[in-house]
Amino acid sequence: MFPAQVNLLLSLIRSYAEGQRRYVESLSSYARQFLDRMKKPEVNFIKGICPAIAVEQKVSTSNARSTVGSMTEVYDYLRLLYARIGKTISPITGDIVKKHEVSEVVNYIYTLSPDSKVQLLIPLQYRHERTVGQELNLLLQKGYSRLLKKGEIISIEDVLSDTSIDLSKSVVSHDKSDFRVLIDRFVVDDKEDNKKRIADSVQIAFSESEGECFIFTPDAEEKYFNNRFELDGISFLEPTHQLFNFNNPYGACPKCEGYGKMLGIDPDKVIPDEDLSIYQEAIACWRGEKGKMWWNQLIMNAGKFDFPVHKAYKELTDSQKELLWKGNDYFDGIDAFFQELEDGAYKIQNRVMLSRYRGKTVCNVCKGGRLRKEAIYVKINDTDITKLIHIPIDDLLSFIESVKLSDYDQKIAERIL
Ligand SMILES: [Zn+2]
Repeated sequence: MFPAQVNLLLSLIRSYAEGQRRYVESLSSYARQFLDRMKKPEVNFIKGICPAIAVEQKVSTSNARSTVGSMTEVYDYLRLLYARIGKTISPITGDIVKKHEVSEVVNYIYTLSPDSKVQLLIPLQYRHERTVGQELNLLLQKGYSRLLKKGEIISIEDVLSDTSIDLSKSVVSHDKSDFRVLIDRFVVDDKEDNKKRIADSVQIAFSESEGECFIFTPDAEEKYFNNRFELDGISFLEPTHQLFNFNNPYGACPKCEGYGKMLGIDPDKVIPDEDLSIYQEAIACWRGEKGKMWWNQLIMNAGKFDFPVHKAYKELTDSQKELLWKGNDYFDGIDAFFQELEDGAYKIQNRVMLSRYRGKTVCNVCKGGRLRKEAIYVKINDTDITKLIHIPIDDLLSFIESVKLSDYDQKIAERIL
């Protein structure tokens, strides 16, 4: 072989080894214990290597929790990717949930015009059952002496001696926006020690208030920051690779404990032939003597909510199918039918009937995604991690290739992708 080709081959082997080693390093220590320890290739520096993964196809005798995604450890890698660059989206408003760091507050302050007079404030604390008087005295003891009341700075001592304020009232009964506690005041200038002081004060504000603060300047709007992972009144969980682990009680769906399936009423047994219409008794459990009443109720009332009883079940829309299970004001659905059977399960005929329709069904909480709902709030390109578990590896690859990242995320993800 010519030296050039030898070199090329060697560098290929080295980069494969290094890629493999980097991939192994990204795995959990639990996964790593099953793999051979790999030597670091003998090179000084290799640039631009992707982790190397070999996927072997084989018939497996693993447990019920494993899927292709989880078994090939591709899932380990996806977890890592989601934990690093996934964005948590509030299900209420669809906004990204952000946690403000001290540095973000400081950066904001430095976007204000130079020489601005800035007030750093926190709300009066509500978490202890104290009276207003007790809370204010405590603040004095801690060394805070001023409050902001309706845009005006007043001294705590003045408030304590003001007879028009009922100090024996609980803090909770006060309007939250009534008082703000002044933590610090400063002027925006570029001196290094000023910057450091601002950062320290913001840190103190966060710890005094369990994570929130306001920045107030006379000429800019009041700005609110919090370092808790909250939005729209919901506390979210920060994405970690454990959050995406359905084999762990922390990440698993609490209903099905991470199996994605549970024992319940099997829709395929309830509607065994989707070519039939509701009128042709597609709903098998409503065919017999007991079910006839339920079937009648639906057929007689279907006109009132325009339900197409003569359409084959498979041609119904998803919401029409769901309606059959849930019911409405005019008829009781399939869920209610089985609930009634269960309520009367002391009768042998009800138990027989139930057993006929029982089977493994998709968990109705996680919809088979196996993870707790907080994990589903984390998205990359509007896609949550559970959507990636069941898709073929080719589609997964094109998903990963299509991921569009900000420059910052790109830097973080570079090592994983
Ligand atoms: Zn579940």
